[in-house]
Amino acid sequence: MPDGRYAPSPTGTLHIGNLRTALLAWLFARTSASRFLMRIEDVDRGRSRARFVAEQLADLAALGLDWDGLVERQSERGALYAEALSKLEARGLVYPCWCTRAEVREAAAAPHGALPDGAYPGTCRALTAAQRAQRERSGRPAALRVRADEARVTVTDRLVGPIVAEIDDFVLRRTDGDWAYNLAVVVDDHTQGVGEVVRGADLLETTPRQAWLHSTLGYGAPPAYAHVPLLLGPDGTRLAKRHGAVTLADRGAQGKSAAGVRAELAASVGLCEPDERPTPAELVALFNPALLAGVRSV
Ligand SMILES: [Zn+2]
Repeated sequence: MPDGRYAPSPTGTLHIGNLRTALLAWLFARTSASRFLMRIEDVDRGRSRARFVAEQLADLAALGLDWDGLVERQSERGALYAEALSKLEARGLVYPCWCTRAEVREAAAAPHGALPDGAYPGTCRALTAAQRAQRERSGRPAALRVRADEARVTVTDRLVGPIVAEIDDFVLRRTDGDWAYNLAVVVDDHTQGVGEVVRGADLLETTPRQAWLHSTLGYGAPPAYAHVPLLLGPDGTRLAKRHGAVTLADRGAQGKSAAGVRAELAASVGLCEPDERPTPAELVALFNPALLAGVRSV
């Protein structure tokens, strides 16, 4: 059975939209008798906070979502990312990019072949030896990008269906030295044995790049993907603080128990009525991914 996972970034308190995604990922894994792994995505050192790690895990446990094995932390897995990078470097698939954010935006705005809007058009891939030497002398830090040659990739998402995309030369390591999300996720999912990635629909656009990198690193077939609909605020926009009581603690302050929040989340996908109080095991017995077909997505 393909193992599942939940991989929050400890950059804030989980809101009930995040918690619903976690519940769904847990239900996908538990209904297929798979292991459910927990991974803290703290590669972004500047934005990650230790207190959010503890708080997020406590909120998930309060909802009755259990996980198998140790909690992995991306901040402790740098050696694995470095190994994957060397593998790509050895094949000539990595090059330094000195573009600033503004330069990338500007270059991406110009028309460039098959790549989608906002894609990096490969500016620094085409530098002459002299241009490259001049940038190296400038001392400006470079990001590292992978040479994807506008590969065309099709990924079939279990809920969304087929997604076709051309892959741009995306970042593997950022100018500040931090590992890029796409590299870390692919290495982690492979080394942890994740067979099915269930996550929010906001991450759908990262999927073709990750599936491509997975194959390019020689990891074999990429995991299965299921991008679940996001829980939106009453105004139809992505859930945020301004929507009021959006965290488990906020709900608790209003007198709602964790079991009540679990029921609210389950009811939002038609698993139960909001006034029922199903246990996690009862939700596993009720869950069917086909339920999500009728839930409004982003
Ligand atoms: Zn560049």
